[in-house]
Amino acid sequence: MNIIKNFSLKQYNTFGIDVNAKEFAAFTSVDELTELLSSKSHTNTHNLVLGGGSNILFTKNIDGIVLKNELKGIELIKEDQHHFYVKAAAGENWHQFVLHCIKHNYAGLENLSLIPGNIGASPMQNIGAYGVEIKDVFEGLEALKKSDQSIHLFTTNDCEFGYRESVFKRKYKDEFVILNVIFRLNKIPVYNTSYGAIEQELEKMNVKDLSIQAISQAVINIRSSKLPDPNKIGNAGSFFKNPTIKTSAFKALEKVHKKMPHYIVDENNVKIPAAWLIEQCGWKGYKKGDAGVHKNQPLVLVNYGNANGKDIYDLSEEIVQSVKEKFKITLEREVNII
Ligand SMILES: Cc1cc2nc3c(=O)[nH]c(=O)nc-3n(C[C@H](O)[C@H](O)[C@H](O)COP(=O)(O)OP(=O)(O)OC[C@H]3O[C@@H](n4cnc5c(N)ncnc54)[C@H](O)[C@@H]3O)c2cc1C
Repeated sequence: MNIIKNFSLKQYNTFGIDVNAKEFAAFTSVDELTELLSSKSHTNTHNLVLGGGSNILFTKNIDGIVLKNELKGIELIKEDQHHFYVKAAAGENWHQFVLHCIKHNYAGLENLSLIPGNIGASPMQNIGAYGVEIKDVFEGLEALKKSDQSIHLFTTNDCEFGYRESVFKRKYKDEFVILNVIFRLNKIPVYNTSYGAIEQELEKMNVKDLSIQAISQAVINIRSSKLPDPNKIGNAGSFFKNPTIKTSAFKALEKVHKKMPHYIVDENNVKIPAAWLIEQCGWKGYKKGDAGVHKNQPLVLVNYGNANGKDIYDLSEEIVQSVKEKFKITLEREVNII
């Protein structure tokens, strides 16, 4: 296996941050990964598994080895009366996998079209968009424990999925390499068009017969028009999570900020769009050097060219502080800070 020294990660993260990995290796099989992790020279070395680099902010050089996941393969492993069970290797591109499923009429992923990144990272933060999260279609995953290279199966319960959360981001942070994910997809589609502008887009597209193909295309159209393309402007999508606050705190804030948008989570909790909070603090379109806040999407921090990870991180910290001051709400970062 080819281990490259002093490797630039600029092309390997969608923020386009130029940091170096002390070592870099791409693995295409579980044997190669096991060999890398168990080799004498790497047992005590810090390692980082990398997918598409679309949910990462590098703030420093990596003093260790970056393991680029290149495991490939998509397989229909079983079906029953209502479902197809499809296994996808961690190194497969997420959107290409969604398109594969749509082509074969495996329903359930259409709302998650065009999310960047790879299969392996999708359970990490329980990716979600337009009213669907992967926990809704998740059947299980296989992961390799880095410390002893044993392989473990995780069910939905084991993953403890939450809003942009799982055990892999918390309890088992950096302990496992996800090898593949099994999805439980519907034979008869259950359409979910109520979220965001999907219905309006379908109307615009003049869709008469609803299908997973049409919903996927509507989502692609909306996302392409709304979100900055990382190939043009460095970014990692939403930088912050939408905060959930107590209903009592919301009621107090609502007295001052009468038009505060919100979603009721349950009788005790209310979710507030982080984008609105950031915009209210005057950050929309802000630019300092090459680090900035996108002009249309305040939730998206951007690298206009040569910002480094610290520039972006410091900007995110200023945003956190100003939102805290104005609303007494602490924003949490969605992006993995490395
Ligand atoms: C324009 C844009 C739009 C986005 N929109 C959305 C959206 O709508 N919804 C959403 O949920 N996310 C969104 N994201 C975030 C991102 O696409 C997802 O989080 C995606 O799943 C990240 O995949 P990745 O392969 O790029 O992960 P990476 O950035 O490579 O890795 C993310 C984390 O997972 C770890 N990791 C990666 N692969 C593995 C593995 N096989 N085993 C163990 N750990 C691993 C990494 O070490 C890192 O900590 C968006 C990003 C961009 C740039």
